Amino acid sequence: MVKDTKLYDLLGCAPDSNDAQIKKAYRKAALKYHPDKNPTPEGAEKFKEITSAYEILSDSQKRDVYDQFGEEGLSGGGGPGGFGGFGGFGDDIFSQFFGGGSSRPKGPQRGRDIKHEIGATLEELYKGRTAKLALNKQVLCKTCEGRGGKEGAVKKCTSCNGQGVKFITRQMGPMIQRFQAECDACNGTGDIIDPKDRCKACNGKKVANERKILEVHIEPGMKDGQRIVFQGEADQAPGIIPGDVVFVVSQKPHKYFQRKGDDLFYEAEVDLLTAIAGGEFAVEHVSGEWLKVNIVPGEVIAPGMTKIIQGKGMPIQKFGGYGNLIVKFKINFPPNHFTDEESLKKLEQILPARTVPAIPKSAEVEECVLADYDPSKHSGKQSGRGQNYDSDDEEQGGEGVQCASQ
Ligand SMILES: [Zn+2]
Ligand SMILES: [Zn+2]
Repeated sequence: MVKDTKLYDLLGCAPDSNDAQIKKAYRKAALKYHPDKNPTPEGAEKFKEITSAYEILSDSQKRDVYDQFGEEGLSGGGGPGGFGGFGGFGDDIFSQFFGGGSSRPKGPQRGRDIKHEIGATLEELYKGRTAKLALNKQVLCKTCEGRGGKEGAVKKCTSCNGQGVKFITRQMGPMIQRFQAECDACNGTGDIIDPKDRCKACNGKKVANERKILEVHIEPGMKDGQRIVFQGEADQAPGIIPGDVVFVVSQKPHKYFQRKGDDLFYEAEVDLLTAIAGGEFAVEHVSGEWLKVNIVPGEVIAPGMTKIIQGKGMPIQKFGGYGNLIVKFKINFPPNHFTDEESLKKLEQILPARTVPAIPKSAEVEECVLADYDPSKHSGKQSGRGQNYDSDDEEQGGEGVQCASQ
């Protein structure tokens, strides 16, 4: 394989330059092609190429790969087990490495967030609640402050440059295989500690486990899916910014109430007399109190009607106040034969007159009576068997209406 020296040529230095020489060459080249001094498209392109070349040559691992396999060796993406291809790479190197922002992490990495679901009933979300939850987490060893040993006794592993992993490239036939392996010099820790200086508390591991109690405040009016964040309370590890512990409120279903935003929905059952002549009904509210609701005489509540009780919904978090309670009515009608025929006649004097069915005089008329409908016996299909029905007249049959020929 002919050694590829393109990146060295770009910077204008020899392939055997040391780090300082490469840095110096980069500075010189960058100054020459800096957009401030060389505001041409060619200059900008050159500047980009120089910077990219320096990014590779200033990274000892990438430089090793480049020296051995050229740009093709760098095309695998850097993940463990990545494969260096051959061809199809060319000018892409710059966009791949530096196109949408550098692929190299800048500054310390952030640890993972820990997510927990926290269930809450509507009652708890109404009044608020504090839950104490134990969290088992990894913390930096307090004895050695996460160093792993006495101050000054911990040295960066030179074998892996403190990475804990080594980057191994191997050529197998035409393929270049690249993979990461745990560094055997430091056992993957990235540090070399003299055994006598090693921290006794954590045995050089730098971390310990700790149980911490978190007080999770569910505030009145919180909603399903809302997050309660404990910043930086997730696992600690050397060199990372700990992630957050995030509790996600999960509203449990309620037997009687449904919630939409700050409003509550409730189905009230009232008897027919209350519905048409007034009365009252009661609601056991999620606040814990009972609401006694009046239906004033003269107001008629029809089945399925919706009314509102203002200010009896959920508390509104942060802004204060309350949502509304929306009541949908179910009217309980009296059973069959609830009274004698004579009493029923009295209703004729009270209720609005019957509506006379509007059937054209010329129409052919069939007299029908009602029977009870049993879905298990009267499915839509079977109703079609009735001899006086059109077979597609299922809707009427489904109502449980039977007819007799006149
Ligand atoms: Zn320690
Ligand atoms: Zn190492």
